[in-house]
Formats: sequence, C-alpha cells, structure tokens
Amino acid sequence: MKVNPNYDSREKLLELYNKPLLELVFEAATIHRQYHNPREVQMSSLLSIKTGGCSEDCGYCPQAARYSTNVEAHKLMTVDSVIEQAKNAKANGSSRLCMGAAWREVRDNKDFDNVIEMVQAVNDLEMEVCCTLGMMNEDQAVRLKNAGLFAYNHNLDSSKEFYGDVISTREYEDRLNTIDNARKAGITVCSGGIIGMGEAVEDRIGLLMSYMEMETPPESIPINALVAVEGTPLEDQKPIEQWEMIRMVATTRIAFPESVVRLSAGRTKMNMEGQALCFMAGASSIFAGDKLLTTPNPEFNEDKEMFDILGLIPKAAFADGEKPVTIPDEKILERKRKEAERKAEVEAASAKAKEEGFEPRKITIA
Ligand code: SF4
Repeated sequence: MKVNPNYDSREKLLELYNKPLLELVFEAATIHRQYHNPREVQMSSLLSIKTGGCSEDCGYCPQAARYSTNVEAHKLMTVDSVIEQAKNAKANGSSRLCMGAAWREVRDNKDFDNVIEMVQAVNDLEMEVCCTLGMMNEDQAVRLKNAGLFAYNHNLDSSKEFYGDVISTREYEDRLNTIDNARKAGITVCSGGIIGMGEAVEDRIGLLMSYMEMETPPESIPINALVAVEGTPLEDQKPIEQWEMIRMVATTRIAFPESVVRLSAGRTKMNMEGQALCFMAGASSIFAGDKLLTTPNPEFNEDKEMFDILGLIPKAAFADGEKPVTIPDEKILERKRKEAERKAEVEAASAKAKEEGFEPRKITIA
C-alpha cells in the first residue's frame, strides 16, 4: 500500500484539504483513475451480530450501556441467522459483509467460537468477510485469519489529540495495537474516522497523518459523518455540510492512492449529487441496506437506482486481494470432540441402565 509522497506532512495535507473544492475533486478524480476503475463501487453490508450493552464510553455511540438511547441490547446472533442475512445481502448485490459486535474486546469464550464459525460460513459464500469486535490480541487475530477473515475494522475515529474528548475508556495506543495485531496475523486493515464530532479540520488531518505514519497504511479507509443520536453525549452536534464529506473523501483518496475509500455512515444526510461528487473524488464503496449497525442508511433499492443513474457497477468480491483459505480451528474441533465424547458417554450409560433393567423413575404430580 502506497502513500502519496507529495502529501506526507501535516502542512501539505492541510493545504490540500483547503484547496478550492473543484480543484481538489479534480486532483482526486485523476489519481482515482490511475489506481482504480472509476465505475466500480463495492456494495458492503454491515450487520450488528451483537447489539448494545457495551461497557465503553464512545461519545457518538448509541450502543454504549451508560447512555440512555433507544437501542435495545441483544445477545450474539446465531450462526444460522448470520448465514441467512449474509445470503440476503449477497442476493441484493453486496460482495462484503462486515459483522460488528458491541464488545470492548474479544474474549476467548463460546461467543468468539461462534464468531469464528460465522467467519468460516460467510467466507464459504464467496463474500469478503470483515469483523469489528473491539480490541483483540495476536492469538485471536490468528484464529480469525485462519477462519477466513479478509479484513478487520478498527477505526481510529479522529486525531490522537482529539480522541480523548470523545472516548475515555481506552487509549489511542490501544487502537493502534489492535491494528498491529491484525496486520501481524496477515489480515487486511479497515480503519477510518468520523467527521462532525466537533473536531477541528486539523484533527481530520491528524487522523490521516496517523495512517501516513504506519508502516503499511490501511487497505480500506471508511469516512463517516456523525449521525448524532439522542441520548449520546454528541446528540446536539450539528450535521456537517456534505461539502466537508466530499473534501475529506478527496483528501483521503489523494493521500492513499491505493486504498479503498469507503463512503460510510451519514449518507442519508447527503443528496445524490453530493454522493456523486464523492464517487468522482474517489469513494469506491458504500454500505448498503437500511441499517448501519443501529443508525439509518439508504435502502438497497434507492442505491440500485443511484447506481443506474450514475452508471456505477457493483465491484465483485476479492477484486483487491485473494480469498482467504480457511484452516480448521483447533479450539472448535476440540470442543466438538469433547461434546461428542460426552454425548456418547451419556448414551452408553443410558443403554447400560436399560440392559440392567433400570427404568427411569416416574414422578407423579398429584
Ligand atoms: S463504538 Fe464500539 S466500543 Fe465504542 S461504545 Fe460503541 S460498541 Fe462500544
């Protein structure tokens, strides 16, 4: 993954961001055409596999347990229902499924085993699988990689300087460590930010600088506009102008010519013309489906109409990297072996009891 050597400092990036808008879009469009097919836009779906009840305090997030929002907490979805949703997303044109769980961090428990099975199953459907599960260590990253995970999403959200104004329950450094763990396991990185949280333009540039300073910048950079949700500390933030979104997309495209820039949350506040300028400026992915985790998003049909009008075509899965090979998960195999042994023992004991003439005791309730 390359960075653009012409914009490798804060000053140069800030100057770029503040260029006259159409000049900026033209430069971004020119670079976009050198590295990507400008008609292709990937449709991705985001599925909340475990909703709400999160112990963190991210100021923008309605899933944090400490805020009173109208998000209802749900436990982890079953593997079968995830497969059903994935098939539905694929039938509607999505080539990537991002599964999000509202966890502070991954824990080595049955829920994580189930996520491993979900990753395997969705990878088998020939879709790119991305997960966003909070912080994770290197061993957990390796298990996800072996399950067939294509990308791990872990957003830096904003600049290091502004981060503490929005989140206090973990450090910027923790985020960088998780990204590093995904990288070490050979998983591609999806990491981006949110604009409109009250940050200065310098913080948007600071976010991009964090990626510039990485040995390998993210393959995928989602750009979100805050969706201010009632009950969260950021509920009163004014929506940003769509021009700011276009500027941020264009600046990101120019700074990271090879990465996929994803036009993510906040599209419902943009009109089609604004989104068209984002595609022109290098956005090559959208999230499709009427929900983005818990916030509203345009419906599949509206996006299909937009694609027709703008002459966009959905990008196929694995256009930017090979499909991961699934390796059987030792921990799950071990658990299944033990479960099968236990079942066999119980069956043998009950067969023996029958042979010896023991009948189960009948309890009569008067
Ligand atoms: S953004 Fe993620 S970590 Fe933060 S509160 Fe929401 S679910 Fe929890």
